[in-house]
Amino acid sequence: MEFIAVVAIVLLAIVISYSYFIFWIYKDSQKYGEDPLAWTFLASFLFIGVLPFYLNSRTNNKVSCSRCEKWFPKLLKECPHCGGKNDQRAK
Ligand SMILES: [Zn+2]
Repeated sequence: MEFIAVVAIVLLAIVISYSYFIFWIYKDSQKYGEDPLAWTFLASFLFIGVLPFYLNSRTNNKVSCSRCEKWFPKLLKECPHCGGKNDQRAK
């Protein structure tokens, strides 16, 4: 029954990478001030297909720090890298 074993290993690999991707998008969206539940929900349907939309939204919601010039979420009050004030914060 070698065929069954191969199918089982392939399925297992898919399940592991799928879980890893869902976990990654959850943590990453939290970190970047995105909505983790919305993105996890979308990712569970679209899997890797959600990635272009996710990365695009992640960039659109960013501002660059006036002090250290690194990117961070618009929603944050101060820069997580240098602690500089976010003067471009959306009101
Ligand atoms: Zn900064």
